[in-house]
Amino acid sequence: MDKPVLYIVIPCYNEQEVLPITAPMFLEKLRTLAEKGKISGQSRVLFVNDGSKDKTWQIICDLARQDEHYLGISQSRNRGHQNAVLAGLMEAKERCDITISIDCDGQDDINAMDEMVDAYLDGCEVVYGVRSSRETDTFFKRFTAQSFYKFLAAMGAEVVYNHADYRLISSRVLKEFANFKEVNLFLRGMVPLVGFKSTTVSYSRAERLAGESHYPLKKMIALAVDGITSLSVKPLRLIMGFGMVVAAISFIGCLWALITALCGKAVAGWASMTCIVCFVSGVQLICLGIIGEYIGKIYMETKARPRYIISERTWEK
Ligand code: UDP
Ligand code: MG
Repeated sequence: MDKPVLYIVIPCYNEQEVLPITAPMFLEKLRTLAEKGKISGQSRVLFVNDGSKDKTWQIICDLARQDEHYLGISQSRNRGHQNAVLAGLMEAKERCDITISIDCDGQDDINAMDEMVDAYLDGCEVVYGVRSSRETDTFFKRFTAQSFYKFLAAMGAEVVYNHADYRLISSRVLKEFANFKEVNLFLRGMVPLVGFKSTTVSYSRAERLAGESHYPLKKMIALAVDGITSLSVKPLRLIMGFGMVVAAISFIGCLWALITALCGKAVAGWASMTCIVCFVSGVQLICLGIIGEYIGKIYMETKARPRYIISERTWEK
């Protein structure tokens, strides 16, 4: 078997501080892997600029000029992390045998790539990077991130626990994955749906080497809602179950009111009325919100807009 061509796919959004530090690390990893004879010399580091507003794209272009192992594509505007990774993977799939997607901030241990490639050579088509510890994350980040995975699982969106977007995918899987046409992307939930033999490799997560996180709590919640509503209809079922329970309680309440009235003991039950009205209208609004979320998803899917638009490349096509 020929040595596989590896493309390391790296989304970058406003990363001018960290890119000059981590880019040589990725290249070094590529070199050592090639020297060990695990991958082909045709392997590349592919940066995806996600419409950065700082000098990120300029840095990528400079890197590409310095060393042919660096490649870069640029999205026409900021579309978010998931779309940036997808753009890179789709661009890479025709040119390589395996891809590894990784963040550009040095938080994910690049040494796990050795094990990932070994797992591929052993016949796995997908290798998930799983965080073994989060000691360097703040308590708040650790807590919210862990609740995130538990909540997703409880809501019927199956994801690999503590796996983010650091993973190896073979081009064979990517070609099948290209047929998943959805616009609402939640890659870590979608990749397992493609199937094929997979395994996990654990690594410890370090601190960001420079710059700051683009995933504040607000974006994490948005990602969780996207993940759940794109992968599962369980919330809709929960609404139905909840509605039934509320309906049953109301039925008992009606009986009780009727009996009291018949016994001539009816009093001006203002407090109980108010509570019931507030509670039921609250529940209704939440339910409408959840249904609205799904309708919004359907709306975006029916438009079928392109999931990414590449405006520039560091090479001639
Ligand atoms: N990123 C991106 N587009 C965005 C936000 C983030 O391409 O709109 C990239 C970012 O450059 C980084 C990765 O996604 O490589 C993860 O982001 P970050 O490190 O800020 O998130 P965290 O690790 O804190 O969850
Ligand atoms: Mg990060």
